[in-house]
Amino acid sequence: MDHSECIFCKIARGEIPCAKIYETQNILSFLDISPSAPGHALIIPKAHFPTVLEVDPALGPDLITAFGKVGRAVMAATGATGMNVMLNCNESAGQVVFHTHWHVIPRIEGDGLRLWPGGKYDSMQEMSALAEKIRALVA
Ligand code: AMP
Ligand code: ZN
Repeated sequence: MDHSECIFCKIARGEIPCAKIYETQNILSFLDISPSAPGHALIIPKAHFPTVLEVDPALGPDLITAFGKVGRAVMAATGATGMNVMLNCNESAGQVVFHTHWHVIPRIEGDGLRLWPGGKYDSMQEMSALAEKIRALVA
């Protein structure tokens, strides 16, 4: 597949600018251009994976390291006391840029962001049955 027109590949190659905050051999982090809160950052693998489902598991340690380093710095810079690390996978989940990326959103008590509306199962039996179905499908 040709990724030459992918916007995040272009950012990773330095062909279009970004507000860079962290870079290693495999990972790049920069500020989201349309932030949910000031300091909202994105963390991307430099290599092109359309969604999280394709990401090379070998990048796990690099990504976890980036969550910690970028998250701590974003919180320190903005005075945040917490953060959400989020990822959208596929259009139904709100993914717009198909070069996978994690959102790091700094949070402060009372900031009013509502990211996780909680639902409920009708019964523990329903929950257990769904867990069993999913467990059987874990490859
Ligand atoms: P998603 O909905 O998870 O695909 O998120 C894509 C994110 O990328 C959005 O929050 C956009 O604001 C952000 N974005 C798109 N283009 C750029 C860009 N050139 N620089 C920084 N962030 C961008
Ligand atoms: Zn890409």
